[in-house]
Amino acid sequence: MEMEKIVTLCKQYGFVFQGSEIYNGFANTWDFGPVGVELKNNVKKCWWKRFVQEDPKTYGVDAAILMNPRTWEASGHVGSFSDPKMDCKKCKQRFRADNMIEEFSNGEVAAEGMTNEEMEKYIADNHITCPNCGGFDWSEIKQFKLMFETSRGTVEGEKDTVYLRPETCQGEYVNFLNVWRTTRAKIPFAIAQIGKSFRNEITPGNFLFRTIEFEQMELQKFCKDTDSMDIYADYKKRALEFVEDMGLPADKLRYHDHDKLAHYAKAACDIQYKFPIGWEELNGIHHRGTWDLSRHSEFSGKPMEYLDPDTNEKYIPTVIEYSIGADRLTLALLCEAYEEQTLEDGSTREVMHFIPAIAPYKVAILPLIKKNHSEKAQEIYTELSKYFMCTYDETANIGKRYRREDVIGTPFCLTVDDETLNNNTVTIRDRDTMEQITLPLDEVKNYIEEKIRF
Ligand code: ATP
Repeated sequence: MEMEKIVTLCKQYGFVFQGSEIYNGFANTWDFGPVGVELKNNVKKCWWKRFVQEDPKTYGVDAAILMNPRTWEASGHVGSFSDPKMDCKKCKQRFRADNMIEEFSNGEVAAEGMTNEEMEKYIADNHITCPNCGGFDWSEIKQFKLMFETSRGTVEGEKDTVYLRPETCQGEYVNFLNVWRTTRAKIPFAIAQIGKSFRNEITPGNFLFRTIEFEQMELQKFCKDTDSMDIYADYKKRALEFVEDMGLPADKLRYHDHDKLAHYAKAACDIQYKFPIGWEELNGIHHRGTWDLSRHSEFSGKPMEYLDPDTNEKYIPTVIEYSIGADRLTLALLCEAYEEQTLEDGSTREVMHFIPAIAPYKVAILPLIKKNHSEKAQEIYTELSKYFMCTYDETANIGKRYRREDVIGTPFCLTVDDETLNNNTVTIRDRDTMEQITLPLDEVKNYIEEKIRF
């Protein structure tokens, strides 16, 4: 399915709108609408449940977005978080030189290790033209800083530069000692966080896939180096299981082990999903050695050491990182869930087959005939919405109302009719099979709660 189709559908049904739309938008920003916010919140809730709530050795934090600028010197971002950009002088489009070389050479040439001069020479020697206009008139390559800068201070001219965080994980590293102290956890343990990150990407685009502001769901597991490769393998497995359980099929997911590693890393792997734009990274699992905590020890002057209470051994823990973009995963789930179905009678319906745990609304309450059944239906709505998200619709015929719910992925439609008034029973229609069952009203809450559990 085309990405364009998903963008249109998201706009039409209230999943995602263009950011600042009335001002003609603001490129590569997106606003989640009434059903989109529910969907994304549910994605985040499922991740948190799986990796924090159900894991006794993982602790959550919610760290500040603006951090002491020394953090970004220690992490290496101030010095080197940049990409090589070049501009086409003809059409004024901007590109990443390393990506162009890698695409041109079908991944044979690793541009990551090349200097700007080497990249310029390769592009000239191979006559690599502009992917947009076909021209061959390039600017020189310059490093483009990916961190957004802002300033803090009240006196003009005396303001300090601060950064919008480009990754959330530094919030866990700087809190390692605090979390260890307050939880009394023994290594191995993890710190997890869900929060916004900001990157001044050179080539954002493809809807929610690459934006300049996005949410990360990630955890850092602190461990002994001798256990680290087993823990790394375990997170590779758990990360894949998670996205499969969220509704992505195994044949559209694959591991992509990295050949080139950061100088401090022992291993790195992405999980890729087959997006409409091709196989692309969904999440990363990285073995980061002792780099992060060593650097923060050095820059802050606070020893980030763990004291093993059993052996009295003192050491800087090794870190395994698992990080997945909430927006990017939401996009994958939207792409996967959508189906234009031809029914037996030849008619078509659009349906979102979300797993019930992430569906924006769990139940739609529909009075069969407005004047007879709406009072009872509203009563049921008020009661059930104490437990999960419900929606209520009394307009148009029942078939139309089912279609409206199908396209936003509501897994159950509850119809209120004369049987409800006389016998306290309701019919529940299943979104995917379109089959209906009759249930006593007092069993509905448990029935739905059972079905929406993740
Ligand atoms: P990419 O290679 O796609 O730029 P990355 O390797 O820089 O990603 P990480 O820094 O490991 O990504 O971030 C972890 C996750 O955060 C990614 O796997 C992705 O899901 C998400 N992510 C990263 N950058 C963006 C972005 N610009 N927009 C949306 N999600 C992003």
